[in-house]
Amino acid sequence: MRTKIVAGNWKMNNNLSETNTLIESLKSQGNLGSTRVIVAPSYVHLAQAVSLTSDSSIEVAAQNMHEAKSGAFTGEVSPAMLSSIGIETVILGHSERRAYYGENDATLAKKVDNALDHDMDVIFCFGEELEDRKSENHFEVVKSQISNALFHLKASAWAKIILAYEPVWAIGTGETASPDQAQEMHAFIRNLIQDQYDASLADEVSILYGGSVKPGNAQEIFSKQDVDGGLIGGAALNAADFTTIIKSI
Ligand code: PEP
Repeated sequence: MRTKIVAGNWKMNNNLSETNTLIESLKSQGNLGSTRVIVAPSYVHLAQAVSLTSDSSIEVAAQNMHEAKSGAFTGEVSPAMLSSIGIETVILGHSERRAYYGENDATLAKKVDNALDHDMDVIFCFGEELEDRKSENHFEVVKSQISNALFHLKASAWAKIILAYEPVWAIGTGETASPDQAQEMHAFIRNLIQDQYDASLADEVSILYGGSVKPGNAQEIFSKQDVDGGLIGGAALNAADFTTIIKSI
């Protein structure tokens, strides 16, 4: 059975005390069930977040990392640094990283390899722009994002990969893909993986949906057969909303 996952990407929000408060209020929401729950605070708060969540099932992820193992890359963070503070999961390929920092498929393939070399789980984000969907090019865009960054991997590596389909037009916009649009794309992605590898591998990969998931729409989206949870931005900054989303699975 595929793992159900809800991950919160906190982006560049919250100072240290706000981060602590958000984690504590998440912990105080009670039993979050069997869903794998992951939060991704900013780099500077990761060690503190790992410590604060150590008595709970909540996991902590990084929002990014560098493609090189170490060296003269001012301002960057390596997977070894993350591992050394107890981070076992990293988000890669978020559309904001692609749009504002020029991350492309080739860089992302290197980042994925580097994360896997450090035994980290990867939440790999991808998704089409609005123009791609309007021109009905969205399947081709998603296919090339996934195949260019991930199809060099051996089948065994996929145990560490979590996919997050995030149509760019739905991120932070309040506009969400309809449950049917999400299901259609998730089924397409699972077929792609099946064609490249095999049906049992495709069946095991968790595919999350991201893009304006809120307490009011989570249940309908998560009810779709190929949607295994969500990557949540804005609504993850409120413990009660995030918990409602988690419990919608
Ligand atoms: C995101 O940034 O990954 C995201 C899904 O954001 P939001 O939920 O705010 O649309």
